[in-house]
Amino acid sequence: MYLQHLELKQFRNYHHQEITFQAPKTILVGDNAQGKSNLLEAILLMATLRSHRVSRDRDLVQHEMPMAEIIAQVAKDHAPLELSLRLRQTSKRTLAINGVTQTKQTDFLGQINAVLFSCLDLDLVRGSPETRRNWLDLVLVQLEPVCLSLLQQYAKILKQRNALLKSIKANLAKPEPSSPADHLTPDLTQLALWDAQIVTVGTRIMRRRCRLLQRLTPLAQKWHNAISGGTETLTIQYQPKFPFTHDDPPELVQQRFLDTLHQKKHLEYYQGTSLVGPHRDEVILTINQTPAKEYGSQGQQRTLVLALKLAELELLELVLGQPPLLLLDDVLAELDLHRQDQLLGAIANRVQTVITTTHLGVFDAQWLDSANILRVENGRIIG
Ligand code: ATP
Ligand code: MG
Repeated sequence: MYLQHLELKQFRNYHHQEITFQAPKTILVGDNAQGKSNLLEAILLMATLRSHRVSRDRDLVQHEMPMAEIIAQVAKDHAPLELSLRLRQTSKRTLAINGVTQTKQTDFLGQINAVLFSCLDLDLVRGSPETRRNWLDLVLVQLEPVCLSLLQQYAKILKQRNALLKSIKANLAKPEPSSPADHLTPDLTQLALWDAQIVTVGTRIMRRRCRLLQRLTPLAQKWHNAISGGTETLTIQYQPKFPFTHDDPPELVQQRFLDTLHQKKHLEYYQGTSLVGPHRDEVILTINQTPAKEYGSQGQQRTLVLALKLAELELLELVLGQPPLLLLDDVLAELDLHRQDQLLGAIANRVQTVITTTHLGVFDAQWLDSANILRVENGRIIG
């Protein structure tokens, strides 16, 4: 897969811009706030249908414009492919492949694959569990597009179940003349229906995430070993609210999920929210048996994130049979020479890479010679 051409219309600070990717490596250079990250965001959106920075489409549409459009031309399996994504201020997105509107997002996913590495990724180590869950889900969606609809279904179920738990909480707080069990009966009957749904869809997500980590971990360990010089041992574990392993059958995981819901029901009524499920799970990163966020220097944490990203790249390539696009947002300057070399060695000329930077000085001459350098200025690409 090779991204040949990108057209941005009223996307973020780009009014109308066309970019041709002439070499496997593109360097976008420009001052702060000119639109470098916006361009990478547009590419990532085509791969994952999600932005890594915002959740609402209206933030992506240029201020005071009704609609944005991203059009990508890709060479895939020797056939040209045109993908278009329209984002609107107030209504839904439209997706098209070769001019044909796609009703299912899952059909659009997988046409472009990309791995992004930005300074935000340092939050993978330091940030909240949600950051690590989102990262895992972004990889999942690219490997198995069906996961996008699972995640969307789950979000809906969770919202409804939480609304019901909130009303149970409020009802419990009200003084009731009749027995409390009576006035909760309709709510509890409805809750049982939501329980069945959260367990079914939640289990599918949890098992997929767990399987993904199972495949990602040895690759991340290999890269981590290479970059840290073999002095540190990385472990990665999926930590759900109840124990299961990647090879447990789904019925068993579902039963444990349901049992845990029953155990926690009073706490859920009391808190008015769902306490078990993939939205509460954690990915535990440890180095030499110490939680990574407490371990070592910022540099060591960066090594870990770099290892995770290279593992992500390698896994996508293994599964898809071709390397994904690599988007490096302002991270080269943050890495020391040894880590830069590791990264550049891993990319070689195989992986189409788009890199942003404020200074070309961070690149060695060999890189600059082989890359197409584009200057970004106030939402425009100038030569
Ligand atoms: P840095 O080097 O600081 O990372 P950058 O070149 O990556 O800078 P971007 O994040 O790509 O900068 O672009 C930021 C610019 O885009 C800001 O000036 C911001 O105001 C503008 N911008 C963001 N969203 C919109 C939007 N919806 N409409 C218009 N402009 C926007
Ligand atoms: Mg930026």
